[in-house]
Amino acid sequence: MADERVFVGDLTRKEFRERIAAGTIKAAIVPTAATEQHNEHLHMIHDTLHASYMAEHAAQKLLPQVVVASPIAIGVSEHWMPHIGTLTVRPEIFCEYVFDVCNSLVRAGIKNVLILNGHGGNVKPMMRRIDEYKDKLGINLRFQSYWDVYDPALVQQHMEHGRLPGHADEFETSTMLYLAPERVQTEAIDNESAALGTREKGEALVGPAVDGVAELLRQMIDGEDINLPTVTFYPEGKRDLVSGEPV
Ligand SMILES: [Zn+2]
Repeated sequence: MADERVFVGDLTRKEFRERIAAGTIKAAIVPTAATEQHNEHLHMIHDTLHASYMAEHAAQKLLPQVVVASPIAIGVSEHWMPHIGTLTVRPEIFCEYVFDVCNSLVRAGIKNVLILNGHGGNVKPMMRRIDEYKDKLGINLRFQSYWDVYDPALVQQHMEHGRLPGHADEFETSTMLYLAPERVQTEAIDNESAALGTREKGEALVGPAVDGVAELLRQMIDGEDINLPTVTFYPEGKRDLVSGEPV
């Protein structure tokens, strides 16, 4: 069976060292997400499972060039603390922790690092620091959420509410119904948008995210210019998640 291991933690130090020495490893992904309330019906690890899945499968499309760091499963979720069980860290702690993980990869000899995010609350804090971090590390460093790669037409085609990622509603319910239906407690769904979630919509949207992230990595490895804003999708189109402006 082909060796499809991509997580750094699933390699021995010998395997990692030999791949670096051979020039095999061209890029790394650092998944970042959250452990936070996802309404009544989804598990709180939702965003982390998604960022990890997209990272793992995108890396596997580019075997053996891309490795994936252990996911950072607690992000900036202060806004959900009224719902107990949510875990959060201060924005500056989150950013510095992610920086240190990236720096470890740089010290190992990796020149392209994609921080692949799965939680909206992490975007503004990290986008305020990313240029500084890129300069400090002296490598090709990017921060993107996995949904940034979507074509707005695809989102409009499948999301009846037109919003993506939203929060624990149509999109996230659909993708989890596809990836791990046992993690969706459908009987507990208590909002109209989540009730629109289907496995079919999830299947239609997971593949293009993996493909888009793999393509983004290819562009990074090839040193191409990339113009991909961090966005969120609304019925009227996509908006920059930091500025709120249409893009
Ligand atoms: Zn979520």
